[in-house]
Formats: sequence, structure tokens, C-alpha cells
Amino acid sequence: VSTSATGGWAEPGVEDLGRGVFRIPLPLPNDALRAVNVYAISSDDGLLMVDAGWALDTSEALLASSLRSIGYRVEDVRRFLVTHCHRDHYTQAVAIRRRFGARVSLGAGEEPNLTEIATAVREQRHSGSIATTLRRAGAAKLAIHIDEIRASMEADDQINWEMPDQWLLDDEAVEAGPRTLRVIETPGHTRGHVVFHDAQAALLFAGDHVLPHITPSIGFEPSPVRWPLRDYLDSLRLVQSMPDAKLLPAHGPVAPSVHDRVAELLEHHDGRLSEAEKAVVAGAATAYDVAMALRWTRREHQLVDLDPMNQMLAISETAAHLDVLVLQNRLAVRTLDEGIDVYEASPA
Ligand SMILES: [Zn+2]
Repeated sequence: VSTSATGGWAEPGVEDLGRGVFRIPLPLPNDALRAVNVYAISSDDGLLMVDAGWALDTSEALLASSLRSIGYRVEDVRRFLVTHCHRDHYTQAVAIRRRFGARVSLGAGEEPNLTEIATAVREQRHSGSIATTLRRAGAAKLAIHIDEIRASMEADDQINWEMPDQWLLDDEAVEAGPRTLRVIETPGHTRGHVVFHDAQAALLFAGDHVLPHITPSIGFEPSPVRWPLRDYLDSLRLVQSMPDAKLLPAHGPVAPSVHDRVAELLEHHDGRLSEAEKAVVAGAATAYDVAMALRWTRREHQLVDLDPMNQMLAISETAAHLDVLVLQNRLAVRTLDEGIDVYEASPA
């Protein structure tokens, strides 16, 4: 099955990318992202997968029938290389390992995230500090709402958050038959996100670091870091400094040039930084105020038009932009007694 450059990438099937590399989109029910791409790499020493999908019966059934069409079974998967710990990439690797014994590898930087999830499951509470982030952003009311949504979301697949067999290190080489994939740490979307670079074939398995049509959320993770957007922009510049490659993203169609898309993403964030700065200069004080002043998605929605989950992502992303503006000395910040960060134009 081949797909056109823009439409139809999420349709079930297998896209043959040549020389034993296959793109397989798997379903994400009720998700605006529509599908997650997993990549099968076949060689004489077995089948290796980059990312695994969300552990759902429909997803595993589609993976099985897709692999069958290229002569493999799910139990032939020798190893999963997972780009980051989000459920649509990681959980199916754990589910398949449990039954068929595949090895699961994940970036070493994700260990705090998985540890936090495991601790939260044990203590029967929500993972992470989204509520803290939202309160700091001046959006305490939304924090309560989000906790209710997450309670229903997290209940289902607690068993699929076990640890990987192996933590991948930066610059580590993974042999896949005749190919060598180099592990590159690209923190930002999550703190331990990694991409896999096949320099010889000029392919970049980019996970959610570089997506062709959308910008990945920043810092939505169980154990957040202080400056996720700074890290993300640094990681974009890092892949820009490497030789250009074909972009094999986790969501969206394969694209010819990582560099072209990275340039667009850097420009997008430059624009967002300027808009956020202007909003503060015009009087917005908290991340929530600034998110209200900005427009969201390509359709230029107002914050209040987004559903609560997307409002949460928009506000935490705005906070990340404001924090970078502080690092760049374009804004100043002070924290009020009740823990809310208030921004103002830098006196210098
Ligand atoms: Zn994703």
C-alpha cells in the first residue's frame, strides 16, 4: 500500500520504504493524532521495531495482519526500540514482551518518568505534576478538571508500564542486520526522547521529535524538567547539525528532509516566543493569561474553544515559552506566595 504525500498516511496497511524498512500505522482511538507509525526493520537476524503502538486489541491485531503481509508474525519481533515513554509508543512493546519475549529498549533519560508512573500506580495516585504546573501557570480551576479526566484514562493499562530490558545511551550503536542505527538523545517532547539515525541509508526514525504536520507537545510527562522548551530547541538544532536524512515520523507521512522540517519548527517557535513576549508587554501576567491572549491550532482557536486536555497542553506549552524568554533575558519572573509565576517585561 502506498500513500500520497499528505493524505491517507493513517490508513491501515504497510508502506514499503525499501531495503527491509516498512512503515505500519496503528490506530489511536479518540485521538486527534489519528494513528501512530511503527517501523519494522527486517534483516537476516530477525525483526526489529521502532516504536510499538498503544497496547490495545485492535492495535495488536492490525500489527499482526500487517506483519503477516510482509511474511512475519508478532512473535518474530526480536526487539523494540522505543523513542519515548508515551503510551502510544511504549505500552504495546511491554504487552507483546509479556507474551512473546521481545526485548524492549528505551532511552535512559526516560527512567525518572517510568519510575514516577510506577510509584504513582503503587500509591494509587495520579502520576506527575500537571496540577502543580497548572497552578503555577495561574490555572488552578483547570487542574481539578484534568485530574478527573486522568483518573478515567490511567485506570486501564497500568500493567503495561513495566521497565524496559535495556536503557539506551546517547551515541550507542544498535546493529540491525547490515544496518547500524545510532541512538541520539533528543530531550524536549519528553526528557528521555531518543531518535534513531541510519547514517548510511540517510534515514531518521524521529519519533515525536520532528513531526511533518504538527509541533509536538513540550514537557507533558510524568516527571517534568525545568526548561523543556530550551531542551527541545537544543535538540532540534542538534539534528539540524547532523547530515540531512529522510524523515520517518511517528505521526504523519514520511517526508524527504529532516532539515527542511526542523527549519520550519524553529521558525514556528521563534514566532511563538515573540507572540508570548508581546502578550506580557501588553499586560498578560501568568502563563494562563498569555495562553488566553494567543491563538491555537492552525484554525486560530481561542484557548476556551479547546477541550480541557488541549487547554492543559496549551497552558503548559505557554509556560515553557515564557520560561525560555526569561532564560533569554527578554522577560523577568517572580513567584507569588500562592505559587503562581508572574511575568513582566525585563527591566533591561
Ligand atoms: Zn506520539
